[in-house]
Amino acid sequence: MKEAIKAAEDSMRTGQGGPFGCVVVCCSKVIGRGNNRVTSTNDPTAHAEITAIRNACTRLQTFQLTDCELYTSCEPCPMCLSAIYWARIPTVFYANTRQDAAAIGFDDDFIYRQVPLPMEERSITMKSLLRNEALTTFRAWADKTGKMRYWSSNSYAASLLTPAINSISRASLKSTRGTSPTTSPSRMTRMRVHRPINSGNSEEIIRIAQPSPASSSSKW
Ligand SMILES: [Zn+2]
Repeated sequence: MKEAIKAAEDSMRTGQGGPFGCVVVCCSKVIGRGNNRVTSTNDPTAHAEITAIRNACTRLQTFQLTDCELYTSCEPCPMCLSAIYWARIPTVFYANTRQDAAAIGFDDDFIYRQVPLPMEERSITMKSLLRNEALTTFRAWADKTGKMRYWSSNSYAASLLTPAINSISRASLKSTRGTSPTTSPSRMTRMRVHRPINSGNSEEIIRIAQPSPASSSSKW
């Protein structure tokens, strides 16, 4: 988490974007880093979590991060939370809350309130067009053979790391999975959400977030 917070600080100090940072960890190794780059890249989707997930997936050459943990300096916005679901990341640690973000002008809470509303009550106008034409492609997909399906294995991302790394880090990874979540918002019912800051297990979590000596000589 300290690395995620440092990335947030760097993002702000270097003018890349807002004060948000994130790292993705697999088998005790940081395999993805990100920070907010919205304003410097003119990309409204360049949030810290998105850039970290893209970085991790590029490095591992996968679209599934099923046994990774994500550490973010602030509770994810709805877009990033969705990306975390799509990436199949089962565990999220966050520091600042979305209320903390709203207090400094980043009001993700508005989007959280929009999502459960009926479509006609949202601030964005949405209308269905040409459904029958679009269904043609869907039917073709349903009939398509040899499709690449989503992998559901809990050890898929880990399998992409070297066996040597796995053998060292799996034991330490298991040692953290017995920790109890300190909060479990209903919208994240399938995710374990931890708040390491000011919690009793902060030392153990911080140790996992740090790259191992073996990785210190690499660009990571
Ligand atoms: Zn976000």
